[in-house]
Amino acid sequence: MIEVRNLTKRYGSTLAVDNLSFDVHPGRVTGFLGPNGAGKTTTMRSMLGLDRPDGGSVKVDGRSYVDLPAPLREVGALLDAKALHGGRRAYFHLLCLAQSNGIPARRVDEVLEVVGLTGVAKRRAGGFSLGMGQRLGIAAALLGDPKVLMFDEPVNGLDPEGIRWIRTIIRALAAQGRTVFVSSHLMSEMALTADHLIVIGKGRLIADASVEELIKGSSRRSVIVRTPDSSKLWPRLVAAGGEVEHQPDGSLLVSGLEAPTIGELAAQSATVLHELTPKEASLEEAFMELTEESAEFHAGTGVAVGA
Ligand code: ADP
Repeated sequence: MIEVRNLTKRYGSTLAVDNLSFDVHPGRVTGFLGPNGAGKTTTMRSMLGLDRPDGGSVKVDGRSYVDLPAPLREVGALLDAKALHGGRRAYFHLLCLAQSNGIPARRVDEVLEVVGLTGVAKRRAGGFSLGMGQRLGIAAALLGDPKVLMFDEPVNGLDPEGIRWIRTIIRALAAQGRTVFVSSHLMSEMALTADHLIVIGKGRLIADASVEELIKGSSRRSVIVRTPDSSKLWPRLVAAGGEVEHQPDGSLLVSGLEAPTIGELAAQSATVLHELTPKEASLEEAFMELTEESAEFHAGTGVAVGA
């Protein structure tokens, strides 16, 4: 379990994390979502004692990371897969980490096997592809068999096969009862990987909810309406406050009105309906709605504020 309480971190005049509080529970994948520059990496670095917060605290199973006697045995993290000595062979990179944390050498062989790098263990890590580098980073995170795991944007830049592999291993680690915290700016990926979501924007908490709750809470729900009489129904829908869009397949996509209301409006005007189907927002739409105000980069302005 990770407990973040009133975490605040500034870089000069930039407030990267602003009084952020949330919990990450064991046995499920918690996705950490936010637009670029939202403060995800800063939060994770603070969790790992790599950044000193200006306020608040992070506890991992009740203790600060810096107070953990053998950190790799408690928390495994992949923040930057390239943060290693490229001239070192994969096996020795892991062995070095293991020895400095009192972890037996045989564990190196085990984690290489888990991530599928046994065959290239004696190759220099500097020559690894992005996907192999991510696998090596995950092997390092797993070395101490920790109960808590953190991955910062683990699928960034990977091909579909690599993405699928990471998704599978992340889900398996949570199914083993571990606390798994994964950041991403890719909603579609999180919809497939996470059970629970922490959404932040401009360093502040925007949502702490399950994937289903987030989608259900979105106002971007709409209703698919199919009728041979669209010219009759259309003005009534608009007059009732609906927004109506013609779809390429001939149906109408109505937002701002619930399906029962549309059904009643159709009945009042004796309009025949062939279909009336409520359509949930995608996680992508729900996320866009939540973070619209807080995105550092707005399409169309051409100006990136911050990183
Ligand atoms: P995310 O991981 O969500 O993309 P970050 O935590 O990297 O966001 O960044 C949050 C904010 O803090 C951004 O505005 C970024 O420019 C700023 N920031 C991050 N690291 C530093 C740093 N070392 N020095 C100055 N500003 C930083």
